[in-house]
Amino acid sequence: MLSDFLSLFFPRICVTCDNALIKGEHLICLSCDYKMAKADLSLSKDGFLAAKFFGRLHVEHVWAYYLFNKHARIQALLHKMKYHNMPELGELVGEKLGAALNHLNPELAIDVIVPVPLHKSRLRRRGYNQSDYFARGLSKCLHCDIATDIVTRTKDTETQTRKSRVQRWENVNEIFKVKDNSHLQDKNVLLVDDVITTGSTIEACGQSILEVGIKSLSIASMAAAK
Ligand SMILES: [Zn+2]
Repeated sequence: MLSDFLSLFFPRICVTCDNALIKGEHLICLSCDYKMAKADLSLSKDGFLAAKFFGRLHVEHVWAYYLFNKHARIQALLHKMKYHNMPELGELVGEKLGAALNHLNPELAIDVIVPVPLHKSRLRRRGYNQSDYFARGLSKCLHCDIATDIVTRTKDTETQTRKSRVQRWENVNEIFKVKDNSHLQDKNVLLVDDVITTGSTIEACGQSILEVGIKSLSIASMAAAK
């Protein structure tokens, strides 16, 4: 009742099209959500996403909810989530992906979700890690723990597209450190990030996690570029 009254004066608007949201819509309008391209979750072992990591990282499943395209609605969504203090968008997409995964595979066993950490100076500037919120939405549906303080990022790196793959690997291999092995050992770990482009960040973080002796590693992102 109060929210209906407030919305007369402060209409809630869709983050990607700026149209007023109607009752039952949350952050993204139904029309935008319908038009945003989704990745095929059933191809988690042999689709374009799995192919990105083939020979680089031993993974069980790779999922993304949206397909990333520059200048599309998904770019506006990711931008608002990261730079306009709207981390709740990450949680919303986490819930959408979690519900879809439950529907697709009710037997799916994930023990713990690890969000790719931000370097502490970046975290201080932004105030939050959007991947923590994505993990929170996923954990609601997958009923598993989230480990936010187990892996740390020791270097604040940007994507290194100009370096050779070997140089890149040497560099990224020192970026992440697992602080407490016992939290991850013998677990089915789901490593999550906001967007996958080259996959080098996930590869670096995933290598550090695999080294502690886990049962399996899967990957999920809010969006992925083909
Ligand atoms: Zn919209």
